[in-house]
Amino acid sequence: MIRAKKTLGQNFLKNKDILKKIVEAGDIRKDEIILEIGPGKGALTEFILATGNKVIAIEKDIRLIPILKEKFSKEIESGQFSLFEGDALDIDYSKIELNSKKFSIIANLPYYITGKFLSNTLENKIQPKKIILMLQKEIVERITGEERKNGKKIFSEKENILSISIKVYGDAKFITTVSKKNFSPEPSIDSAILAIYNISKYFFEKNNINEKDFFDFIKLAFSSKRKKIIKNLSQKFEKKKLEKKKLENIFEKLNLDKNKRAEDLILEDFKKIYLNLKI
Ligand code: SAM
Repeated sequence: MIRAKKTLGQNFLKNKDILKKIVEAGDIRKDEIILEIGPGKGALTEFILATGNKVIAIEKDIRLIPILKEKFSKEIESGQFSLFEGDALDIDYSKIELNSKKFSIIANLPYYITGKFLSNTLENKIQPKKIILMLQKEIVERITGEERKNGKKIFSEKENILSISIKVYGDAKFITTVSKKNFSPEPSIDSAILAIYNISKYFFEKNNINEKDFFDFIKLAFSSKRKKIIKNLSQKFEKKKLEKKKLENIFEKLNLDKNKRAEDLILEDFKKIYLNLKI
């Protein structure tokens, strides 16, 4: 018996209906390769392999590698399944036979590495077509702007750095809530499945925006949550101090309320302000 390691966020999924839902959310096409991060003991892997597609998995816990090798010996032998021991945060996509047009990611990852994993993956030159992830319910709600309480949906337009950093690359969708009871050992909070579809760098290419500059701008806009966005932006942008007056003129030109906080603006507003600052 292998004891679950808390440090590796090991909460294994035990409900087959949920495992099925994750794979269904992937809407996997025939020619796609699936990259699974953190296969654990292979519960989700089994369902992904059942699609008949090629699966590549990366697991950090060396103790789980022989279990996975034994469980999926046939699939490894046939070439349908490739297993690597390693860290999801160090993946070199060019080295694991992945090509951006044809691969998708499915993962039930430890929550503490999800933010870093998402930014590494979305900002990478080689991007997946879509990502299906299990996350804390609250985080999925904040990313998608969709709160679920007692089976009811409540929509909120409030943005944050994480929601913006995902929306610039793809369409985020709340798939379903997953109660903590579906895991072993049971975590302290409920989870939810997040899907990010149609991933691309189109937003940056179409608008001729540099990714790093744009994220620096977003971080500055959100630097002090309670302050108005103009106040945050007028501190400093690209090492130059921005004149409050210039910002106010831009807001006026764009018909935006000068008293708004960053969380009250949508991606399209950020894009317009950024492009006006660059002119
Ligand atoms: N996929 C399995 C399931 O659904 O039951 C296991 C999920 S468990 C929440 C997270 C898995 O990710 C564990 O197997 C853990 O060892 C693995 N893991 C943790 N950190 C990792 C990392 N940095 N890179 C790759 N795998 C990691």
